[in-house]
Amino acid sequence: MIDLHLHSTFSDGTCTPEEVAALAADAGLSAAVLTDHDTWGGWPRFAAAARARGLRTATGMEISADVPGRTVHMLAYGFDPDAPALAAAAEKLREGRRVRNASILAKLARLGCPVSAADVAREAGSPDLVARPHIANALVRRGFARDRADAFRRFLERGAPAYEDRVRLDPEEAVRLVRAAGGAAVLAHPFSARFGRAELRAFVARLAAAGLAGLEVHYTGHLPAQVEELSGLAREFGLVAAGGSDFHGANKPNVRVGVAYGGLKVPDEAFDALLARASSGAG
Ligand code: AMP
Ligand code: FE
Ligand code: FE
Ligand code: ZN
Repeated sequence: MIDLHLHSTFSDGTCTPEEVAALAADAGLSAAVLTDHDTWGGWPRFAAAARARGLRTATGMEISADVPGRTVHMLAYGFDPDAPALAAAAEKLREGRRVRNASILAKLARLGCPVSAADVAREAGSPDLVARPHIANALVRRGFARDRADAFRRFLERGAPAYEDRVRLDPEEAVRLVRAAGGAAVLAHPFSARFGRAELRAFVARLAAAGLAGLEVHYTGHLPAQVEELSGLAREFGLVAAGGSDFHGANKPNVRVGVAYGGLKVPDEAFDALLARASSGAG
C-alpha cells in the first residue's frame, strides 16, 4: 500500500513532515509522498524521516489551478526540486495567497470580525503558506465562529462575505511546468471540480494531450462506481491510476494516512509507474 497525497504543517495539514512520515510507516506503507499546497518546503525533512523508516518517497506538491468557474488541483511527483520555472510558479501561487489573505482579513474587519495577520500566522505551521483553514481556526479562537465548518460557511467559502479568489495556474500550463521540471503530473480528486461526465472526459483528454501522467483514481470517499469511471478514463488515455488519502491531520478529521476512512487501498504499482513517467530521476 502507498499514499501519494499527504499534507503537513508546510501547508494546511496539522502534522509535521516527520509526524506524517511516522504515520505512513506505522500504516505499513511501502511509499509515501508529501504533497503540500503550492510548496515543497517540507521535502528535505519528509524525505529524511521517510527514508530513515524504510519508506520510498519522491518530491511532491499539489498545485492550485483553475478553469473558468472551477478550481482544479494538479499533483506533481518526482520533479527536480531545483527546477527554476516550477519554483517560480509555486512562489507566484504563494504570493497570490498572501495578497488574497490580506484581502480576506480586510473584509473580516469590515464585517466586525477582526482577526490579525499575527492571529492567523499563529495557526499556521509555516509562515510561508497561510491557507483558509488557518484563517478559519483564528476566527474560531477569537470566538467569531463555532467551529471551522461554521467559519467557512459564514465567512470563507466561495460566495460567503469574506471570500476572495486568488491567483491559480492554468491546468495545462501546470502540466507543462511539471514535465519541464522532470516530473509527472496527476489530476487530483477529479470529481471535486464537479464536471459532468462528458466534460470531465474532454478535460482529461486536453490534459493528456499536454502530457498528463496520471489520474487520482483512488481517493478518500470515492465510491466503487467512481473508481471504475476513473479507471476507465485512465485506461482510455494511457494514464497511471494514482491515489492517496489527502491526509490533513486534525484539519480533516477521520482521514488517516494510507487508508482514509479505512477502505482506501492505493496499489503499490502506481508509485513506480509515476516515477517511470518522470524524467528527473529525483525519486
Ligand atoms: P485555500 O487553499 O487557502 O484556498 O484553502 C483551501 C482549503 O480549505 C482546502 O484545501 C480545504 O482543506 C479547506 N476548505 C475549503 N472549503 C472548506 C469548507 N467549506 N469547510 C472546511 N474546509 C474547507
Ligand atoms: Fe488542503
Ligand atoms: Fe486538493
Ligand atoms: Zn490535497
